[in-house]
Amino acid sequence: MKNKANPFVNVLKKLKETTDQLDLGEQFYSKMSKPNVVLEQPLTIKLDNGKEKTYQAYRVQYNNDRGPYKGGIRFHPEANLDEVKTLAFLMVLKCAVVGIPMGGGKGGIQVNPKNLSEGELERLSRAWVRAFYKDIGPQKDIPAPDVYTNPKIMSWMVDEYSKLVGQDSPASFTGKPIANGGSAGRETATAQGGYYVLSELAKKLNMKPEQTRVAVQGFGNVGYHTARILHEQGYKIVALSDSRGGIVINGDGVNPEHVMRVKKAKGVLVGAYCHGTVCDLIDHDKISNEELLELDVDILVPAALENQITDANADNIKAKVILEMANGPITPEADAILFKKNIQVLPDILANAGGVVVSYFEWLQNLDENQWTEKEVFDKLQKTMQQSFSDVWAMARKKKVDLRSAAYLLGVDRIAKAK
Ligand code: NAD
Repeated sequence: MKNKANPFVNVLKKLKETTDQLDLGEQFYSKMSKPNVVLEQPLTIKLDNGKEKTYQAYRVQYNNDRGPYKGGIRFHPEANLDEVKTLAFLMVLKCAVVGIPMGGGKGGIQVNPKNLSEGELERLSRAWVRAFYKDIGPQKDIPAPDVYTNPKIMSWMVDEYSKLVGQDSPASFTGKPIANGGSAGRETATAQGGYYVLSELAKKLNMKPEQTRVAVQGFGNVGYHTARILHEQGYKIVALSDSRGGIVINGDGVNPEHVMRVKKAKGVLVGAYCHGTVCDLIDHDKISNEELLELDVDILVPAALENQITDANADNIKAKVILEMANGPITPEADAILFKKNIQVLPDILANAGGVVVSYFEWLQNLDENQWTEKEVFDKLQKTMQQSFSDVWAMARKKKVDLRSAAYLLGVDRIAKAK
């Protein structure tokens, strides 16, 4: 089912359509269709068995016309340069759509971190910093977590960066543990932001949480917290999945906190990762990730990887709303099919922007040597996400386009003006 199409080609198609609509000219498109800087380096670390192993590492600094480069680091066996470029491009747009003064970047290592011990993971994380530290920094490029990276990895990275530059530098990375200069609310910010945006759309569509059935693909940081918050707000969570498959829950759905407890209790901890799965909940029917996408639910939340909904399965999607918490889960061909089917897609560059908004708040707190309360963080986040939704919604009405096209029009126009 998955489209092996290059995700970078997909985002460039959308960029071209947008720059044409905005009449920005070939020169602007040509500049925006390439990252400013591409850094690639093999990292060699010592494994616990004494042997050495090399992993390919990346940092792409896409565009900084609106502020320093900002974007996460992904550790994944399929991480590759085109994926990192795509994610860096989406960061540029995302920061523009939510109006924070940051540019876009992204990093990665091609590795399955679940096969590493904690010591190996730490050595690899520190090696990434040694490879790129001269090109990043609080005023230049500020990385954060993404798939299979977490606050602990960020704290190793800040520590390594601080040692290399000879001074404490908490503002060099965001998504840190609170004890190491992290922000209250950062761990759940992406999900919280998605919830604020969804609530605005739910008002427009007159959706009532208690009558709304939700399926979530991906049960990591973003997927778990999105499911948890929606459950707390009265939505029915009727399907969940992770890399090992999914479950369907009949009736009123399930409490995601219970699923997480079982996943942790039954899963084996290898290195820094729990090898449990939502499929450990034995009293529910099992489904594949592909089947989850096609369930008869009201809201579908892709919260794993890109290219999940393509022209091969878009026609079978039954949800009325798709909350794109993952980056790039829908291809342009699928977008067109979903639009015809009148399915509302809350696009990634709006829906999952809560993470970078709170990363920006964390950076501000670090630079000011300040610490905001969780309430302050979420109040500011809510305002930002509601305003961004309202801007995107107004643009969609004005131009009679879908919400992704509207978000692109808004974001690209802001970048062009900054230039
Ligand atoms: P994570 O590592 O915490 O979780 C990833 C989850 O996806 C895991 O549950 C994993 O089992 C599951 N998964 C992996 N491959 C899968 C597959 N083929 N099918 C179904 N599930 C699969 O990562 P995360 O931080 O939650 O990121 C998830 C998505 O959200 C990514 O697209 C990421 O770019 C995006 N995102 C994350 C943040 C953030 O703040 N962490 C912010 C914005 C966007």
